[in-house]
Amino acid sequence: MRSWTARALLCLRQEAARSADTHLLRLEFPGFPGIEFYFKDEAAHPTGSLKHRLARSLYLYALCNGRLSPGQPVVDASSGSTAISEAWFARLLGLPFTAVMPTATAPRKIADVHALGGHCDLVDDPAQVHERAAWHAANGACHLDQFGLAERATDWRGNNNIAESIIGQLACEPHPQPAWIVCGVGTGGTSATIGRYIRYRALETGLCVAEPAGSAFVHGWRTRNRSAIASQPTAVEGIGRPRVEPGFLFEVVDEVIEVADAASVAAMHLLEEQLGRRYGGSSGTNLVACLELAARMRAAGERGSIVSLLCDPGERYDQTLYDPAWLAENGIDPAPAQVALRATLASGEWHPTS
Ligand SMILES: *Cc1c(COP(=O)(O)O)cnc(C)c1O
Repeated sequence: MRSWTARALLCLRQEAARSADTHLLRLEFPGFPGIEFYFKDEAAHPTGSLKHRLARSLYLYALCNGRLSPGQPVVDASSGSTAISEAWFARLLGLPFTAVMPTATAPRKIADVHALGGHCDLVDDPAQVHERAAWHAANGACHLDQFGLAERATDWRGNNNIAESIIGQLACEPHPQPAWIVCGVGTGGTSATIGRYIRYRALETGLCVAEPAGSAFVHGWRTRNRSAIASQPTAVEGIGRPRVEPGFLFEVVDEVIEVADAASVAAMHLLEEQLGRRYGGSSGTNLVACLELAARMRAAGERGSIVSLLCDPGERYDQTLYDPAWLAENGIDPAPAQVALRATLASGEWHPTS
């Protein structure tokens, strides 16, 4: 057992050594002279999203806590991105993997889990995924438990976590201490790591969470109420959770910006124009919040840098957010938000997107 654990840990160490860091891409917009925008391309990981970091940490955490044995089935609840990364690492370690996902998950993500040899257990109600994963765990599976453990499993002081990587990559830039770092909240792991690291290094940086309008985090953060629930669903995957997850740390977040789904989709297309590549909906959500913060900075006569994340690749949403027919069926019209965002980019003044 110990020798299997040692081999599994070596396997993860080798994988980490083979993997490169992700790029920090710089963007400039005409309306915002003196304000630099940076987007960390987390889609560049071997499994296509920021969940690659999390999946590696969760397997390490399970192994080092003695919760994972040779041949043991592995399970987790996921909206897709985590499942893909966890299935990839399960294959690397030779373990059977099951993802519990909402039936409405983008079909492409379900296909990706299958392609990696994982199983998908689909449940109709997104709020039921936790219960279903717990059922698998009660039947002998190792529950990686991204929602319960993301915030603990990541080494927030360093070890090239996402925050340390960003700050290192900004070293030679005009404003190496960003005015803002912007991210969404799914497990809460990314925002917790960044928020803690900002304090740890005593940076003059604000942490802004960009969330779908009416998410549980939005309501919970405003009222500091951990039993808050979402007041509306979202079509943006990976963020906008229906409930306050255990890893949501309210105290390290300085600002929360709500973004309508139509604006996230519009911004996702703007990112494609700027970067020549497609990214997912939550990357669009991030861009909208960056522009709102930049407009505030400009109005206050401030200069500085704003950093955010490109969370996953657009191909995963070919049949959903990138399909005009699907958007129409789901009542999402990105056109008005597109016009508003273009006006903001050009003028530097905030044009509301909804
Ligand atoms: C998980 C996820 C997020 C949010 O990150 P957390 O660290 O889980 O809070 C954002 N976008 C996408 C696509 C994700 O999969």
